[in-house]
Amino acid sequence: MNQLSLTWELYEDRIDSVKRYCSGCGNKVTFYDSMIRRHNANGKKIFQYAIYKCEKGHTWNKVLNKYLSKESNALSQADSLENNPYMKKDKYKNEGSQRLTINKFSLSELSSKDIERVDIFIRNESCKIRLDNLLAENLTDLSRTQIQKKIKKQRILVNEGVSKPKYFVKNGDKITIFI
Ligand SMILES: [Zn+2]
Repeated sequence: MNQLSLTWELYEDRIDSVKRYCSGCGNKVTFYDSMIRRHNANGKKIFQYAIYKCEKGHTWNKVLNKYLSKESNALSQADSLENNPYMKKDKYKNEGSQRLTINKFSLSELSSKDIERVDIFIRNESCKIRLDNLLAENLTDLSRTQIQKKIKKQRILVNEGVSKPKYFVKNGDKITIFI
């Protein structure tokens, strides 16, 4: 019996992302807001940047604002305004809305490679997500209803035992899928 072992690391969704060409990667990738802000003076102008990073850590500076250096009041005002969305984002993160950054796959693709069993090891620090939702988002050829059926038929196990679709996936869990 061919079997596949995977590790899935679950992340909270990073709210701001942008797709653009990364010269480091050499193709179009997704950059995420690192939440780091910088001010750089260039002659009389002051640039305020947000540091965005691609998955491989290459950076891209998104210009948020430009000021003349004599407008120091405007700058400090902008700084205090900038803090508000920050706070909102942190709160929003804590309230949930998590998504995952993992490689999706289809069971039919695995089946065509004679793989009959997949073990998925979960690393999860803070992501709150149900088993059925996690699998529905990452198995491209099964709907959530189909996944729920598979869980009920014990074709999907958690830690070698029976689970429920609404089970919240925890760090260290092993999800087994029989294809
Ligand atoms: Zn890159």
